[in-house]
Amino acid sequence: MDGRTHTVDVNPGETVTVAGWVHEVRDLGGIAFLILRDTTGKIQIVFKEDEMDADLVGTGLGVARESVITVTGDAEEHSNAPGGVEVTPESVEVLAESDTELPLDPSGKVDADLSTRLDNRTLDLRKEEVKAIFEIRAEVLRSVREAFYDLGSTEINTPKIVATGTEGGTELFPITYFGEEAFMNQSPQLFKQLMVGSGLERVFEIGPIFRAEEHNTPRHLNEATMIDFESAFFDHTEAMDACEHVVRNAYDGVAANCQRELELLGLEDAFEVPDEAFPRLTYQEAIERINATGELDEQLVWGDDLPTEGERALGDDVGSHYFITDWPSEIKPFYIKDHDGDADLSTGFDMMHPVMELVSGGQREHRYDHLVTGFEQQGLDPDQFDYYTKMFKYGMPPHAGWGLGVERLVMTMLGLENIREAVLFPRDRQRLSP
Ligand code: ATP
Ligand code: MG
Repeated sequence: MDGRTHTVDVNPGETVTVAGWVHEVRDLGGIAFLILRDTTGKIQIVFKEDEMDADLVGTGLGVARESVITVTGDAEEHSNAPGGVEVTPESVEVLAESDTELPLDPSGKVDADLSTRLDNRTLDLRKEEVKAIFEIRAEVLRSVREAFYDLGSTEINTPKIVATGTEGGTELFPITYFGEEAFMNQSPQLFKQLMVGSGLERVFEIGPIFRAEEHNTPRHLNEATMIDFESAFFDHTEAMDACEHVVRNAYDGVAANCQRELELLGLEDAFEVPDEAFPRLTYQEAIERINATGELDEQLVWGDDLPTEGERALGDDVGSHYFITDWPSEIKPFYIKDHDGDADLSTGFDMMHPVMELVSGGQREHRYDHLVTGFEQQGLDPDQFDYYTKMFKYGMPPHAGWGLGVERLVMTMLGLENIREAVLFPRDRQRLSP
């Protein structure tokens, strides 16, 4: 397309034009090697000072590391070269010169801390093991979409600028919208629910969510990407089935299409597609099992949120992805439906990776009166949500769904220590640019 040959496609015996970044120059005196890197790999360009035009050698060996060059020449077999071929250049053109002082070393010989890496993400992503994370993230998104198509759902996009929040007032980012107060949306929850009552019935969205969480943790971002699903006529168990299908498909896609990336991350042996159905524990069973591990100073009782150490202890105990179901209604959001005949027991569920929560979901309250009461109990003014509640008066089917954080999915899949590793340009308490 762009008239060049990718380094991976260069065959001995061909005249090729390759283009990319100067990874390294090794001058052995008389003979020198320039390693050129592009998105597919690396190739060796050989310079023989006695046999070649002095200007050509001067250009090739004088260019700073990480400059962008294009090289035309003959490819020959060379067993010691990366990829087994080397190119003898007929011409070298410098397309973009790099400064000799680099803020970080893309060859990876010198380690950089995460903050320096994030400040210089472009250079950081020239490292193939960093690039691998984002190739895998893209594969996760591709296979998640594929799983949603299997489920017969339609992709939607909903507003990110909204008049009101739903997931608790303190986590909202206020903005000014033509002189009026507005907010960045915390979740597409209400919009996706409105769509199950539309002609679409079963929908998914992959998009940003914004949460003004004050704390800086290795698993929270202030802007994250959420995978949301919602289906008419599903109950919470069917929503869990769909969740399991989507997560499993993401693992399958990575196993099938990202072997090279897994190798670059040293995960070719460690990476496992979950093979068993995810166990479904009730909240009551979960707190009993956590208490039995003896890891917590105080025993958990009905109604407690699960502390992070408790989640960890249970994750170790279960050893795979699992669901926690049947939560106390009081610690689940108002839009989650209670079990019929038990107002204290909610149909809400969380899907957990052994080290953290990945998903929250449940069957939704679709009865108008109950919903309006729920808003009031949550301390929200139902009138502000009239655009939403009103639609529950005109035939809103029973429905269920969930939300899954993309970064947490990638982070747990690859065993990354910090969620920021799974985002190109993270937003957190310290970081608003790049
Ligand atoms: P947590 O309790 O771990 O802070 P949450 O229960 O507040 O998460 P939900 O509102 O249930 O989060 O959102 C559903 C999913 O979206 C979470 O399970 C998680 O995967 C992801 N998510 C939510 N908030 C964040 C965040 N601040 N950063 C990254 N991912 C998030
Ligand atoms: Mg949650």
